[in-house]
Amino acid sequence: MKYAFPLWTTPSVPVAGTDVNFPVHRIYCVGRNYAEHAREMGFDPNREPPFFFSKPADAVVANGSTIRYALATQNFHYEMELVVAIGKEGVNISRESAPDHVYGYAAGLDMTRRDLQLAARDKGRPWDIGKGFDQSAPVSAIHRAADVGHPSSGAIWLKVNGEIKQKADLKELLWPVPDVIAYLSKLFVLKPGDLIYTGTPAGVGPVKPGDRLQGAVEGIDEISINIAS
Ligand code: MN
Repeated sequence: MKYAFPLWTTPSVPVAGTDVNFPVHRIYCVGRNYAEHAREMGFDPNREPPFFFSKPADAVVANGSTIRYALATQNFHYEMELVVAIGKEGVNISRESAPDHVYGYAAGLDMTRRDLQLAARDKGRPWDIGKGFDQSAPVSAIHRAADVGHPSSGAIWLKVNGEIKQKADLKELLWPVPDVIAYLSKLFVLKPGDLIYTGTPAGVGPVKPGDRLQGAVEGIDEISINIAS
């Protein structure tokens, strides 16, 4: 096969404790998956079915990177999240078999152009420009489920310039990981290489140029990202 342009590099994320990278196929994200965050965004978190949006695979950013303050926004937000890495193809996956499809877990940031997202939401337009832009998916190394198990509890937190902004526990997820996989796999063929951002707790807020974000998912990993000045 000849291509019109040189082929670009497949986006990928290091796998902790190995010399391999996890090639990123697609990035799915869950909206409003913690009650307090649903409330802070103006919604009643009475277990409406989970809903999803996506980001391009090449939005991933390596842990420790400096990212640009995103284009075309005056309200660039962090959202600290547990990230699930899929390792086995499936559709209509049951909650019970969902763990078999998980390769591992990571700590990630669903960076958001909040002003553009809310303008789109309020007009019933797609969320793409608010969510699916360049460098919008920083993610730590992926830790294999064989090493870290399948976390259903544990602290998730984020600091901006050393000040705590988000702090919650994975057990507060309205839709735990097996439910997310079950729902998402009714809509899409999940494939090895898919990442799922599982939603953020309350306390989302803006960053400014020069800020340092540090977050963690207990038992998984930490992530640090700098916003370029
Ligand atoms: Mn999010």
